[in-house]
Formats: sequence, C-alpha cells, structure tokens
Amino acid sequence: MTRIVVVGAGPAGVAAATLLVERGADVTLIEERAQPGGQVWRAPAPGLALDMDRLLRGDSEGFRRFHAGFAVLRPRIDWRPETLVWNVHGGTVQIVAGGAQQALPYDALLLATGATDRIAPIPGWTLPGVFALGGAQAVLKDQGCLIGREVVFCGSSPLLFLAAVQYARFGAAVTVLDTTPLGAKISAVPGLAASAPRQLAKGIGLMAALRRQGRPMHLGVTLLGFEGSGGVTGVRWRDARGVERVTACDAVAYGHGLRPESQLAEIAGASLRFDRLRRFHAPEADALGRCGNGLYVAGDGAAIGGAEAAEVSGRLAAMALLADRGESVEFGALPERLARLRRFQDGLARAFAWPHAQVAALADGVTVCRCEQITAGEVRAVLAPQLGAAEVNRMKAATRCGMGRCQGRYCGHAAAEITAAALGRADAPLDRLRAQPPVKPLPIASALVEDDWP
Ligand SMILES: Cc1cc2nc3c(=O)[nH]c(=O)nc-3n(C[C@H](O)[C@H](O)[C@H](O)COP(=O)(O)OP(=O)(O)OC[C@H]3O[C@@H](n4cnc5c(N)ncnc54)[C@H](O)[C@@H]3O)c2cc1C
Repeated sequence: MTRIVVVGAGPAGVAAATLLVERGADVTLIEERAQPGGQVWRAPAPGLALDMDRLLRGDSEGFRRFHAGFAVLRPRIDWRPETLVWNVHGGTVQIVAGGAQQALPYDALLLATGATDRIAPIPGWTLPGVFALGGAQAVLKDQGCLIGREVVFCGSSPLLFLAAVQYARFGAAVTVLDTTPLGAKISAVPGLAASAPRQLAKGIGLMAALRRQGRPMHLGVTLLGFEGSGGVTGVRWRDARGVERVTACDAVAYGHGLRPESQLAEIAGASLRFDRLRRFHAPEADALGRCGNGLYVAGDGAAIGGAEAAEVSGRLAAMALLADRGESVEFGALPERLARLRRFQDGLARAFAWPHAQVAALADGVTVCRCEQITAGEVRAVLAPQLGAAEVNRMKAATRCGMGRCQGRYCGHAAAEITAAALGRADAPLDRLRAQPPVKPLPIASALVEDDWP
C-alpha cells in the first residue's frame, strides 16, 4: 500500500486529496487549523453565524462548492485537523496534535502549505493596531470582527482592495494607500488581460467599487510610518506629487503581497530557486509540482498563483504522483491552464511590487525582527567587513534576527534585502535564511516522537 500524506487543506491540498481518493489511493490529509478551506475558503469559527454572502458576494458560490466537496471527501480520507507538521525527517512527517507528537511514515508527500503575508518593516509597524493585511482579513472571515472602525489598508497587493471592500461591507471607514504607481498597473494590463481577463475584471471592479463609494484611494504613495504611542492613531505618507500627509485611523492592515510557505519543502529536500521578479525563493519543481524523491508541491506554497491556480496545481501534482507510481493519467489542458494563471500572477507581481530599495535603505533605528527586537542598524553593524558576517545566516547567528518565534518567516525577506545592500550585492540573487525545524512553535509539553502509523 502506498502511504500518501498531503499537508494543507486549502484548495490545493483538497483538490489533490480528492483526485487521489477517486483513483483509489489511501490519503492522510493534515491541517493545522480545525477546519478546511485554507486562506481563500476559510470558514467562520464553529457556531458563528457570519453572513458569507454579504462577505464574499460573487465568491460565495466557490466557498459553498469547496465545503460541499470536502464533506464528501472527509469520510474517505484519514483527516487530521488541528495537527501541525513541524518537521520532515527520515521518510516521516513529524506532527504534533493535542500536545502529543507522532511520526507518520510516507511513501509520497504532497505539500500544499499555502502562503503568508510579506511585510516590509517601516517606522511604527510593530505598534498595537497594525495588522498584517491577510491577518486583518482572517479576523473578519474567521471571527466576524473588524480590526477597527477607521482602517487604513496599505502596502501593495491585490488583497488590499479585496479586504478593503469586505471591511466596507461590514461598516468600516476604509482608506487604501497603495505604494505601486498607477503607471506600473497600466503597463501590466495587457499581460493580465491576455492571461486571465475574468480575474482582471474582478480586480478592476473592486477598485471601481471603492471609487463609487467615495472611499479615499491613493496609488504610488510612499509610506513614511505608522504613528501613535499606546496604539496606532495615524499613517504618515507622501503622495505621488511629494506632498506629505497623515491619515487618522484606529487600525492598519499592512502587507506587500504573499510569500510561499516553503520551509517544509526545503526541510524535506527540495532545492529552492530565487524568483527575480518577486525577490523571494520558492521550491524548485517541474511544471506538475515534482521536486523528486516522492516529494510534490502545489498551490501558493509552490508558486503564488491564487485560488484557481492552487486547485489546478493540486490536481496536477496528484496526477504526477500517480503517473510516477506507474498509473495512467491524462493531463489534458490542465498544464497550459496553470501556466496561463501563473502568467497572470507575474503581471500582478509587476502591478503590486515589493519595495525592495526602500526596505534595503531602512533607517537604522527601525525594528526588523520583532520576535527578538533587532533593528536594521544592528543587522548592518555585524556586516561590517572586520566582523566577517558575509551572508544572511551568519548575520542571524550574530544578531538573533530571524531566530525567534516566527523563525524568520516575517523578518527574513527584509533582513535579506538589508544584508545584500550592506554587502553591495543587491543585484545578485538574494541570500535567504535557511529553514529549520520546528517550522512553527511547538507546545513544550509535547511528548517524544513515536513511530505508530496505524
Ligand atoms: C491571509 C491570506 C488571505 C487570503 N485571502 C484571499 C482571498 O480572500 N481571496 C483570494 O482569492 N485569495 C486569497 N489569498 C490567496 C490564497 O493564498 C490563495 O488564493 C489560495 O488560498 C491558496 O490555496 P493553497 O491551497 O495553495 O493554500 P492555503 O489556502 O493557504 O492553504 C494552505 C493550508 O495549509 C495549512 N498548513 C500550512 N502549513 C502547515 C503545516 N506545517 N502543518 C499543517 N498545516 C499547514 C494552512 O493552515 C492552510 O490551511 C489569501 C492569502 C493569504 C495568505
């Protein structure tokens, strides 16, 4: 019997598990959260009667379809919710659930671990009331709460407009401050229209809805910092004409797009490639998601692609897995569909750019690593030639930047930009913080690992 473990119950992992089960495979599906759905189809907490039609509007049908499909899948798999995979070692995934640890052997491992927000540190970003953009949206989808009543959505990401519109539907006064100029968006339009016109129309529709409602929306701004003492009270920014302004608020949703959750893939043996356009590393895989040695990646954890691409790539990775086991599979038009959706994401990456030059030039006093309270100046200080830290992992060892609770998942990109600039290597592929187990914090009481595959 082939033991197949799928990690992540978002659209990619569930699409993969569904296809595998339909082909008669035994599948264990592991998910850190209590419910399936991933980021895009995240369900409200049990017992919370959140009006999903009001929240999702045109997307509510997709939400219902996903959860109805999962209800059919669930009795056919070994479903492990509230279970964190914290390591991959010696042909096993090491998990912790309910405070106890276990090692599950696998013959094939399909990682569909999704993405998280990418954060560019600026003055005040650690103030109470400043949320990651995706986190602000998750609070609404999961708990039915708003992070504030007057919320500034800022940074650069297509999610800025979606989350702002969703907050406005629930009564928040929203302002959008996007750091990428209108010109970059206009230049990206032909490529976006050629690859996924429906998604482009949806994005333009969100911006138009904010305009119609008279919500303040500014493109090409420079964010100067978040202000406040006990909590955020305003955003200081410069408009495209160079005029400095402050927008009062009681909360901020802040993010610069997404980064793949690639640590498990790296620990499991995948090589990582540097994506020059997005300036991050992602697992090296073929067009179907094969990394080699029985390891497959799908969804945003493989390449940022959005919900539809996640589902398609989940199915493709499952097909590749079956093909590698000698089964006959028909890939049909799916590879071309995935390639088209990923081309669309390349256009989005240009229209919503990561401000790498601004991150590299961050003032010395600004915190980069909030877990360990390390500033940009402390990072630069250990990169002085006489001290010999000549790459980002040595910098980490010398400062503890990236060594805290988040394991560098939030500070790592900024730390890499600052390090590269300080060493005069900003144009070369960036270094990256190497992934280390545990990929997320573990309960200290969790027991020793045991091999007890049922
Ligand atoms: C915060 C956030 C909000 C988003 N909101 C939207 C939106 O509203 N609309 C939209 O179109 N797109 C949204 N996106 C983009 C979204 O990521 C994709 O569209 C889609 O959800 C990707 O699907 P996926 O299956 O690849 O990953 P996800 O949907 O992210 O699913 C990955 C799953 O893997 C689980 N997981 C990760 N690591 C582990 C581990 N070590 N152990 C166990 N389980 C693990 C996670 O808990 C998660 O449930 C959002 C992204 C983020 C990060």
